[in-house]
Amino acid sequence: MIDRREFLRRGMALGLAPAMLPLSAVGAPALGESVLEPKVRRRVTLGRTGLEMPDIAFGASRLSGDVALIHHALDRGITYFDTAEDYTDGASEETLGRALAGRRSEVVLTSKTVARASARRADLFTALEASLRRLKTEMIDIYMNHAVNDVRRVHNEEWFEFASRAKAQGKIRFTGMSGHGGRLVECLEEAIDADLVDVVLVAHNFGQDPEFYERFTGRFDFVAKQPDLPRVLRKARAKGIGAIAMKTLRGARLNDMRPYEGAGATFAQAAFRWVLSGGLVDALVVTMRSPEQIDEYLGASGWTGSHAADGGLLSRYARRTQASQCRYGCSDCVSACPRGIAIPDLLRARMYAEDYEAPALASAALASDGLSANACTGCDGSPCADACAHGVAIPELTHRLPGLVHG
Ligand code: SF4
Ligand code: SF4
Repeated sequence: MIDRREFLRRGMALGLAPAMLPLSAVGAPALGESVLEPKVRRRVTLGRTGLEMPDIAFGASRLSGDVALIHHALDRGITYFDTAEDYTDGASEETLGRALAGRRSEVVLTSKTVARASARRADLFTALEASLRRLKTEMIDIYMNHAVNDVRRVHNEEWFEFASRAKAQGKIRFTGMSGHGGRLVECLEEAIDADLVDVVLVAHNFGQDPEFYERFTGRFDFVAKQPDLPRVLRKARAKGIGAIAMKTLRGARLNDMRPYEGAGATFAQAAFRWVLSGGLVDALVVTMRSPEQIDEYLGASGWTGSHAADGGLLSRYARRTQASQCRYGCSDCVSACPRGIAIPDLLRARMYAEDYEAPALASAALASDGLSANACTGCDGSPCADACAHGVAIPELTHRLPGLVHG
């Protein structure tokens, strides 16, 4: 497996050349396999859970009624599905429940609930039972505490009592936590050190790599560095905790990149290869919305290294999104807002609404974070206009949110 430095060196050395690098040297799928046939080409074991999953798994945050899409994924070997109680207002779980009728034993199912620091055991059981009903299953393989960004949520005793009983009753097999906020590393460290989770699902993408920024954009980005995330992920893996990446597309503005994609590599595939070549996670989950998208994404399955075009595609994307993409794990600007608004959370909702074209997902995220799309209404934006040292145009983005979510 090549490391990040080598990934970048090879990408730079070959620039935007469309030709493939020597396959055996860069962790490509084995020679002899058709590179045209979209299918899962690598299966991994998810840490100590022993669960088998594809290296690229199905994120169901946008799923709403499309049973055929799940069958398309299954036909291509995707056997891991990631949903949550609030995705598409419960329709995601319901659709999976219908689509997996008679095939439940073929797949690993993950769902999530927002267990706050004050959550009670009875409430958690109510949430779990509702998910089980929607999913038409008696057991969820991995049940996660959703979007954790508060250490008090990690240590809620009621969650552990709930999880222990639910496991004993056979309603869940393993527990986990997902996260992407400014206190992600701190929360992960607490959970890993105290051995509180079997699996972690974390935002992890090429935009967090300092070398990437330095080399391709010509500037050092301290936030991109996130020096502790790799360390914490390595610790998780050393303890046998399963690690899965999400938010790997760093905003997922795929259409912006179409004019620059050539034969053999798309931006999404390049972003996935970056994650899968790093050795910090077992696999990745990505939202899948169409059969064509599934087939495109699976073009990166089996890779553990880079394609010659990857570096150029990723650098172009980074430059294009420099002013709109809030860095995961950063919260440097929160003190700038006199209203005390959690700016990164508001910007994440903006990303869902505009970049993902998913206003319902944005609304759900806002509700979960206790925010309103109109949070900035009436403010001229001057307090936070220069608050981001990384070039994100905060007020310009937050003021767009009401029109994106309600318009
Ligand atoms: S807007 Fe800038 S400073 Fe604020 S959280 Fe995002 S990247 Fe960090
Ligand atoms: S635009 Fe105003 S209200 Fe909104 S985050 Fe910035 S300072 Fe706060």
